[in-house]
Amino acid sequence: MQVFHTASGLREVLDKARRKGLSIGFVPTMGNLHDGHLALIVQAAKSNDIVVCSIFVNALQFGLNEDWDKYPRTYESDCAKLRQSGCHYLFHPNDTEMYPNGLDTQSRVICPTMTDVLCGASRPGHFEGVTTVVSKLFNIVQPDEAIFGIKDYQQLAVIRRMAEDLCMPVKITSAPIHREPDGLAMSSRNSYISDEERPKVTVLKETLEWIAQQIVAGNLEFSKLQKDAAKRIKSAGFKTDYITISNSKTLQPAAIDDRQITILGAMYTESARLIDNISIALD
Ligand code: AMP
Repeated sequence: MQVFHTASGLREVLDKARRKGLSIGFVPTMGNLHDGHLALIVQAAKSNDIVVCSIFVNALQFGLNEDWDKYPRTYESDCAKLRQSGCHYLFHPNDTEMYPNGLDTQSRVICPTMTDVLCGASRPGHFEGVTTVVSKLFNIVQPDEAIFGIKDYQQLAVIRRMAEDLCMPVKITSAPIHREPDGLAMSSRNSYISDEERPKVTVLKETLEWIAQQIVAGNLEFSKLQKDAAKRIKSAGFKTDYITISNSKTLQPAAIDDRQITILGAMYTESARLIDNISIALD
């Protein structure tokens, strides 16, 4: 695996690959890689000749009181994992390389749809940071395909919409949620969970599954289901940010006759904010 810290260096090798007719698959990340990230690399390698991964902890998508400073940075072990997973090129820029004109005056990509609900409601500006950095990375890498995890369902939906709205010549592909043996969705932020809380945080996934079972069994009292879910999370000792039964495509509150439904949740532990989701298709 070759590592590039500059966009120009990476572009040079990718231009050559493209001229040879090789296809490029791209996996953007913020590092601290776990098996969920590596599955995306493996998936990219299955359908592309060249796999590019980026590691960049993007300050633009973190709020002022969020964890940009303490976000786990594990560059050496990330490189070792990427090498083993079949990644060809790693792009690891610093802040100046990505934002040479500074953060405040950076041109931004704004997607008005789906960005002010769910995680966007509690993290104002987050998705603007995501769409801006992903657009920049797409322009640098110019991939044929980019792979995103369903774990961050809203992010995936926003990026799909952005690529469609802005006619970006890239195929956006999704990858299933990778979980720990007890069901907790893998996340770089799981390291913030205390030992005492750890056995109980599966309540988020279990609650989303309970809602899914209720809906499949015909219980369509969405508002009550959401309230009961928050009670379950509270009784496990955590604070709900949101539990929402949404239309899978628009992320708006699901209508009674919607067939594709995604149940999304976010909850706070003492020092982590965890998200998860589950999709169901009704017939
Ligand atoms: P991150 O570095 O956490 O921003 O994530 C980089 C990419 O990996 C995003 O497309 C995420 O959705 C994806 N990802 C993170 N965690 C998981 C997981 N547990 N399963 C599948 N994909 C994931």
